[in-house]
Amino acid sequence: MLAAVAFCCSCRERPGEPVFVISLEGGTGPEPERVVVDSLQTASADTLPVPDSIPEDTVSLPVAPRFESLEGSRVLAVEIRGSLYETLQQACAGQEPDVIGAHFTRCLWWHIDPWRGICAGDSIIAVYRDEGFGMENRTVALRYAPVSGSSNRPFAVYQFRRTGDNYPSYWRADGTEAVRLLDVMPVSTFEEITGVFGEPRGGHSHGGLDFKAPEGTPVRTPHGGRVVRMDWNTGYNGRCIELDIGGGYSEIHLHLQGIAPGLYAGSSAEQGSVIGWVGNTGRSYSAHLHYQINDENGYPIDPLIFSGSHTRTLPQADVDGFAQFRAACDSLIGAP
Ligand SMILES: [Zn+2]
Repeated sequence: MLAAVAFCCSCRERPGEPVFVISLEGGTGPEPERVVVDSLQTASADTLPVPDSIPEDTVSLPVAPRFESLEGSRVLAVEIRGSLYETLQQACAGQEPDVIGAHFTRCLWWHIDPWRGICAGDSIIAVYRDEGFGMENRTVALRYAPVSGSSNRPFAVYQFRRTGDNYPSYWRADGTEAVRLLDVMPVSTFEEITGVFGEPRGGHSHGGLDFKAPEGTPVRTPHGGRVVRMDWNTGYNGRCIELDIGGGYSEIHLHLQGIAPGLYAGSSAEQGSVIGWVGNTGRSYSAHLHYQINDENGYPIDPLIFSGSHTRTLPQADVDGFAQFRAACDSLIGAP
């Protein structure tokens, strides 16, 4: 239950607008469980790590709490007027609406097109935090409801760390993951997917997938192939590598901290072998891997389609904890 409810004046620009912010203070939710990991698994040399196992070879990572405490969280409810960003500019001016919008978008894009598929009259209610575990992930839970007559479907997502993962992800009420993973991943652990294929970015559309991950996280080639080129256009791409993966397709990895020794144009990299490490080089604002697939004409195509993708489900051991957390969130964002 809410110990204290305070409405933020800056967020109620016009009386009657379905826009409000509630600050939660004290004793309002489950305490975060501090998880101690005594040992992290190591990938064997001949297997490509997949996120289900989260092997960790070179980076020592702290492990995030299973879920954020709702204490100190805020609830933001908006009805869409114009775009999501325009709506948030109105709703929470002075509270980094662009940042909040970016975080909401990362919950929305697995279900709807947040740029072209959102309609006036749709509503979003979300629990978010200004900080948490040194992570940028601010959206703790989010419920979207389409306007009457829309073909969009309602959904809710909850941020929860699955057993065995280093970072939380977004899960639907039924315990299936909202985030789609590539069937063969270039990184075995990552904090968040911060960019998807086709996302509008100031006059161009994003050509790959962005995995935000700690600097130094090993990057593996999901397909393997022959190195076409390395370190071109470094002002933008940073340290980078392109591999010919056969059939006219290529794999591109940008913003690397470094490229694995022994690789050069014309050399080969085995599928699953480490080709470099996540970095923050070139035009990059935080350490991440830009992973891209180009077709035979050099045009980017969606890696989720090219490589195949899947969603995970929470294991039985997580079901009760997740249900408890989801119920606490639903008390703030409403049950379906
Ligand atoms: Zn990118």
